[in-house]
Amino acid sequence: MAVRVRFAPSPTGALHIGGIRTALYNYLFARHHGGVFILRIEDTDQSRHVPGAEEYIIEALRWLGLVPDEGQGFGGDNGPYRQSERKAIYQKYAQELVACGKAYYAFDTPEELEAIRQQEVHFAYNYRTREHLRNSLTMSPEEVEALLQEGTPYVIRLRVAPEEEVHIQDLIRGEVVFQSSELDDKVLLKADGMPTYHLANIVDDHLMRITHVIRGEEWLPSTAHHVLLYRAFGWEDTMPQFAHLPLILRPEGQGKLSKRDGARFGIPVFPLSWKGATPEDSFLGFREAGFLPEATLNFLALLGWHPGGDQEVFSLDEMTRLFSLEHISKGGARFDYDKAKWLNQRYIMATDNATLAQYIRPLAEAKGYRTEQSYLEQVAALMKERVSLLPEFVEEGYYLFEPVRAYDEEAIRKRWKPELQPVLEAITDLMPSVQPFDAPTLEMAVKALLQERQVKPGDVLPLLRLALVGTMKGPAVFDTAALLGPAETANRLRSGMAYFLQCTETTAAK
Ligand code: GLU
Repeated sequence: MAVRVRFAPSPTGALHIGGIRTALYNYLFARHHGGVFILRIEDTDQSRHVPGAEEYIIEALRWLGLVPDEGQGFGGDNGPYRQSERKAIYQKYAQELVACGKAYYAFDTPEELEAIRQQEVHFAYNYRTREHLRNSLTMSPEEVEALLQEGTPYVIRLRVAPEEEVHIQDLIRGEVVFQSSELDDKVLLKADGMPTYHLANIVDDHLMRITHVIRGEEWLPSTAHHVLLYRAFGWEDTMPQFAHLPLILRPEGQGKLSKRDGARFGIPVFPLSWKGATPEDSFLGFREAGFLPEATLNFLALLGWHPGGDQEVFSLDEMTRLFSLEHISKGGARFDYDKAKWLNQRYIMATDNATLAQYIRPLAEAKGYRTEQSYLEQVAALMKERVSLLPEFVEEGYYLFEPVRAYDEEAIRKRWKPELQPVLEAITDLMPSVQPFDAPTLEMAVKALLQERQVKPGDVLPLLRLALVGTMKGPAVFDTAALLGPAETANRLRSGMAYFLQCTETTAAK
């Protein structure tokens, strides 16, 4: 049977990175088996619906290249893929269960149930308590009919039979057993005519012919009711297999990573930035923090999955080829942000300069820097080994776009000798005559001058670097000069020297 899987997020706000990992595993599983990956929007809880959340989910999937074969915003023959547009379908199935005695009408008002809960903290609507409550199991058919005719609000509940065992062969966790006596009679259809998550999820998985349900561990307890629903409908033969993914843990390895942890640890825990109604509800995304989509995917894949061996860098194609549920761990996976950055650096280094220039352009533009493709490609070439996040191209490498903002005084005091001043001046004067003005020619010209004056390159090159970029870090000095061009290089040598003199004089005076 062809594999069909779905990613079924609820549009209740920005989608946490854990949700994207679920989408990725579904995608990899589908691709590995030549199957179909579906996006279904589970928006039946209208009270939690957040405008823009569905668009956010779709944009995040597109950014990462996890494009569904079918689904909301992507077409397909099994739609609608937005549950709020399938209301009539769920109502029909809920009524069917009532008709065959597997579900029932319950007329208890929220106030009545609340009053019981006040008395009995552990109250559950179940095989014991339903005998004493206002539902179609305790009322005569005439009474029920009359209430329905009057338009009395009701919910439909699943009639859970006691003393049954529910066995689930989870593909990651192994056998999990639930006792039906411990399960409540879940609401399937709410008073507003909307299905609950449980009913809609099962009906849709059935109608969309889902073969494997791959989702977060937090849904494992619900699976008991889901299996009972498959039984109630008589759909057990085509029931999907279940695989519950491990939790994602905080960077320090303790406790579940929550959406608030992003702000707490100063790291992104969302794929894209999200602007909520309040600052507390606004989040930084991996994209905006400067991650490449490929690196983000690689990082997310390794949060709970590894095919064995030492390899850490996997392309999407490789992951697709190697993916299997057997290699997903049961234990929680630590969200190691340093590893995310390390991976991003690897991907930046492996990305061609033309592509990097495209990423750098909006960052440069935002700062009012120059943005010609050829210039940005050279910036990419010079800086790519030195950055782990994209904005660092224009932050760390700001001196490739604007004059030096600050000099490392300590380094200057250590290196500066008054007798080097004429040498630096001679180098400055040399600049206009270096042709072509590229790194090898420049290096040859400067080294020839140093030799002639019998000065060691080790004494002068650090000062050149300090004059050009202000610090001892940064790309190779002749490459930097070549990119800046003869005029700007000469300018920086002049202002650098002025600064060296000033700062070493003040030290001497102290
Ligand atoms: N709508 C659920 C969620 O938001 C889907 C859980 C499932 O995959 O069954 O995660």
